[in-house]
Amino acid sequence: GATVGVLALQGAFDEHLQLLHQAATALTERGVSNTKWIFIEVRTPEELAKCDALILPGGESTAISLVAARSGLLEPLRHFVKVLRKPTWGTCAGLILLAEAANRTKKDGQDLIGGLDVRVIRNHFGRQTESFQQSLPLSFLGSTPEKASGTPFPCVFIRAPVVESILPHKKGIQTEEASKEDMVVAPSKAPVDELAKEELKAQVEVLAKIASRGRGRDNFNNTVIPREEDIIAVKQGNVFGTSFHPELTEDPRIHVWWLTDVLKAVERRKRYKSC
Ligand code: GLN
Repeated sequence: GATVGVLALQGAFDEHLQLLHQAATALTERGVSNTKWIFIEVRTPEELAKCDALILPGGESTAISLVAARSGLLEPLRHFVKVLRKPTWGTCAGLILLAEAANRTKKDGQDLIGGLDVRVIRNHFGRQTESFQQSLPLSFLGSTPEKASGTPFPCVFIRAPVVESILPHKKGIQTEEASKEDMVVAPSKAPVDELAKEELKAQVEVLAKIASRGRGRDNFNNTVIPREEDIIAVKQGNVFGTSFHPELTEDPRIHVWWLTDVLKAVERRKRYKSC
């Protein structure tokens, strides 16, 4: 079996759990695997330790990181993502937490988990009232039996971040540079086992973009950077991030796609351990 956790400190964790159940049923019905899935809410290091994979939901990244720090979960989360290199997916606030660097929108900043060599801009599209939904074809999903390939996915953006840039080197931005640019960075961690080291070699893949809505505000110096497209989905080895919230839709396609990836990772780890 495989245990998938959803970080349940704040935000849309319940919605993720529902779609995970739907996705697992779809995989079983389709005969993709007879894996026994267990889905759990994660609030403690003990619960995290049971997981083969993890979702960080949308919500408020500052609140999530604050509660995670208080619950003694921040270091275990970094260990899970960056040392064990287990499959982890962050949506919206979750994407922010998985970035190696993010702009500060408040003086005190926040703690990041890291894992994705990217820098994100928080609240890129503006305020809550500027939330929107846009149907986008997500080619990385390929074709699924339920819906033909290319059927647009209803992407929901709520005070969403975008990936501003892909970081050139593995360890994230240097601290000095970070303080100059008023950013927060995640502390670096080195993977221990050979399998995890393999994951670390993976480059950032850009999986989806959206036509820029012309509000690309650079929070570092408050200038508007003209850009044609904004990056809204990335994957780097075991870490996957989306700016939008698939958990706020009724479309399980991304959950199905991700669970298929989780299965492969779980099987790789099983083979690795048995030899
Ligand atoms: N703007 C939020 C943050 O900075 C993210 C919003 C969301 O997850 N819907 O954490």
